[in-house]
Amino acid sequence: MVDQADKEVWQEIDCLSCGNCCKKMTPTFTPKDIKRISAHLEMTPLAFKAKWLVFDKKDSDWQNKKQPCQFFNLSDHKCTIYPVRPADCSGFPHLTKKKVTAYLHVHRQNIQYCPATFKWVEKMQAMAINGFTTDTHLQ
Ligand code: SF4
Ligand code: SF4
Repeated sequence: MVDQADKEVWQEIDCLSCGNCCKKMTPTFTPKDIKRISAHLEMTPLAFKAKWLVFDKKDSDWQNKKQPCQFFNLSDHKCTIYPVRPADCSGFPHLTKKKVTAYLHVHRQNIQYCPATFKWVEKMQAMAINGFTTDTHLQ
């Protein structure tokens, strides 16, 4: 059910006509992300962090200082560092990353901004009501 809903969602959603995650949320930047992106921009990781990021003590990770993301092109909704973007961005909205029950807090947060997450939840609700019983992720 989870995978089926995910597959259907991406046939219907066009991220380039949305961009909400880049406009209204921040990705987390892992040390690997920081190293890769700063090298791409020909900056040191230290300079990159000082210019763009802030360390969030609550979540213990590096996040953007500002929104929309500094790498988001507002005119065409494309990421200007797409080939080297953070892993968090390339996997977003992480619909099938983990068992639904283990990731409810993430989906609950993302559903406010992400139409794909909203549609995915809607589809699973419809499947549950219509008696779709082959899923294993929810167990
Ligand atoms: S790095 Fe790119 S994909 Fe990630 S939030 Fe910024 S603009 Fe969006
Ligand atoms: S918020 Fe969701 S639907 Fe919108 S661009 Fe991001 S991943 Fe795509």
